Amino acid sequence: MGSEVSDARKIRLFIDGQFCDAADGRWFDAFNPATGQRCAQVAEASAADVDRAVNAARRALTGPWGTMPVGERLDLLAAISDRIMRRFDDFLDAEIMDTGKPVSLASKLDVPRGAANFKIFSSVLRDLPTECFQTPTADGRGALNYALRAPLGVVGVICPWNLPLLLMTWKVAPALACGNTVVVKPSEETPSTATLLGEVMNEVGVPKGVYNVVHGFGPGSAGEALTTHPGVSGITFTGESATGKAIMKAAADGIKHLSFELGGKNPSIIFADCDFDAAVAGTLRSAFMNCGQVCLCSERVYVERPIFDRFVAALKEGAEAIVPGDPYADGTHMGPLISAQHRQKVLSYYELARQEGANVVTGGGVPELGGDQAEGFYVQPTIWTGLDEQARCVKEEVFGPCCHIAPFDTEQEALQMANDTQYGLCAAVWTQNLTRAHRMAAALEAGLVWVNTWFLRDLRTPFGGVGLSGVGREGGVHSVEFYSELKNVCIKL
Ligand code: NAD
Repeated sequence: MGSEVSDARKIRLFIDGQFCDAADGRWFDAFNPATGQRCAQVAEASAADVDRAVNAARRALTGPWGTMPVGERLDLLAAISDRIMRRFDDFLDAEIMDTGKPVSLASKLDVPRGAANFKIFSSVLRDLPTECFQTPTADGRGALNYALRAPLGVVGVICPWNLPLLLMTWKVAPALACGNTVVVKPSEETPSTATLLGEVMNEVGVPKGVYNVVHGFGPGSAGEALTTHPGVSGITFTGESATGKAIMKAAADGIKHLSFELGGKNPSIIFADCDFDAAVAGTLRSAFMNCGQVCLCSERVYVERPIFDRFVAALKEGAEAIVPGDPYADGTHMGPLISAQHRQKVLSYYELARQEGANVVTGGGVPELGGDQAEGFYVQPTIWTGLDEQARCVKEEVFGPCCHIAPFDTEQEALQMANDTQYGLCAAVWTQNLTRAHRMAAALEAGLVWVNTWFLRDLRTPFGGVGLSGVGREGGVHSVEFYSELKNVCIKL
């Protein structure tokens, strides 16, 4: 830890409705990835702090939160959403300080979706159907079976750094809507917006202990303390597949409910009959949005041979037009990677691609930026061709602004290459042949298939991956399935 920062730049824990330092007074540094400079100090929760947060959350389960009429609870969720929108600029600045993403992206995606998550789950719960069956019995009087939903309990919410507010509220909102209480462990890279949400919870009158935030790292830190705490009933986690494995093992002792949204190595398949310009624009977004740091990004692009050269040339032109730089400057399209360490990882893949024999169509290095951004964690958008399908750069998730483009001759070949992965989060298909689109959608091994679009979401639909990409589905009623326990009541008439 370096020298002290001012009080205003200290990010504290939020436990039982109060901001507080860690019990043992530990802090770690947070960096602004657009400048590479330290921007804050963050309180690092010890196991004792996590214990305090879980206990506060347990008390709140049976306190005013547990006894609050459902309608009132859902009104509070809508109020949280409104309040985030009223404090839009605070959330925007906090998210940009942590991630360096351009204001054009954060203002259209991260903050509005963070707010929308509370609105959507407020309405999903309001409209929730229930089941009731009349069961015949031998005496002719029958029995009535109906289902009651109870909250799971205290839910541990462990989040990544790429879309911090969006992905955290995507889990907190349905958890609270179902009557749970939460202990959130944001990524150590992006502690700000989860902390700011604590202020919002107090401002709209969410009872203390319902929403708690503990900062820190994974193994041997707050993440591990949360996953192993006996007072936590379920863990919802978004992050790397390897971390998912570690959490699964750690949570096994308590037989905790688990929901995992993990990594991907997603294919985009572009047929010669596609709307060419739409496919190029869509693939530019799917490869490079958020500097390639979206689990849904396409790192593998397959293009039907007759349009291969034209498509590669168009994607190269598009990639070279992407302007990296100051997140607040007009015309900045791309921010930095999240950290110096992550940049090192991405650049090591850029080097590996060369060693594996890639043709570097564009990029492959670090852009020259001046001013405040000179020390930021930027890399160039990068396109490769010519790699073997078994090359590590085609097999492993890089999580940077890069993709490999390979040609294909038949639908069957495209499908075989797309499915040759241990991941299975999403896939995109670009074609104007409707029959083929349906055929591909059914045959692709992924939790989500887009046709002629990418990243278009209706938040009521199921979201999740197959294989190494996840366990379970969240979204709409699917979230309710995870965040509640169903109880059958059978009454003999
Ligand atoms: P990560 O797995 O390194 O960290 C995620 C969170 O887990 C952090 O809060 C971290 O502190 C915590 N953590 C790490 N080890 C832990 C442990 N042993 N026990 C408990 N907690 C632990 O992931 P990241 O680098 O923050 O995010 C990038 C990854 O997330 C990529 O693989 C990406 O594909 C994936 N991701 C998936 C989705 C999805 O919806 N499927 C969405 C976004 C990101």
